[in-house]
Amino acid sequence: MKLTVLGSTAGTPSRTNPASGYLVEHGETSIWMDAGTGTFMELARHVDPGTLDAVLLSHTHVDHCSDLFGLYGYLAYGPSGDVPIKVFAPEGGPDHLASFARATAEHTFNSVLDFDEVFPGDAISVGDVNVRFGDAIHPVPALVTRLDAGGATLVYSGDTGPGSDLAEMAEGADVLLCEASIAGIRDERSYPFHLTAGEAGEVAERAGVGQLILTHIGALMDPQVSVGEASAVFSGDVGYAEQGLTLEIEGDG
Ligand SMILES: [Zn+2]
Ligand SMILES: [Zn+2]
Repeated sequence: MKLTVLGSTAGTPSRTNPASGYLVEHGETSIWMDAGTGTFMELARHVDPGTLDAVLLSHTHVDHCSDLFGLYGYLAYGPSGDVPIKVFAPEGGPDHLASFARATAEHTFNSVLDFDEVFPGDAISVGDVNVRFGDAIHPVPALVTRLDAGGATLVYSGDTGPGSDLAEMAEGADVLLCEASIAGIRDERSYPFHLTAGEAGEVAERAGVGQLILTHIGALMDPQVSVGEASAVFSGDVGYAEQGLTLEIEGDG
């Protein structure tokens, strides 16, 4: 399974790094995981967006879903593709996105994109990739995503605060792609719906993952400081989801 980081800036794109978005490929299967601001153009540098097997949205904050409208335009009014393309989103996500597009049931939006709501505990297959969802702690419905293919496992936190299903979902994963929106030590003023880099490291240690990749780091933060904070609590390898990073995830299969 191959992971490509299309963008990883928290909350907003920066001048050089889009918001959250990843391309996951395994054999003939390609999945766009989170469609944050600026990631559609990056996606199109790697694959023809019309050939995607599915889009997985962790939640519908704009920094994780706004470029879905780029795919919509591409499919409806541009080069098109193998439509409809499946889009999996958490509770309320499909309605929320359709309302922005002013889409009725008969609208083109709903003929080029085929939406399914997914809930924590759900499992789906996309081509050769098995996907399971867990509960994230965030102000809107949000999901933790686990992808298994060819004996390799990738787990993505989406946006979450402490107390989610993340550590259970990440049990034994080869790679944990984990948000680390907050630097330093949590105190009573810290935002409860994101993780510190140290907390990401604690989850990785508890779940016994092979490698931790930190993502969703703010444009004004130094990712290497976050990597250092996570490394202080996780005994395995810690990296940063730099824009353009490509990772071949080798499993035991
Ligand atoms: Zn976010
Ligand atoms: Zn969010």
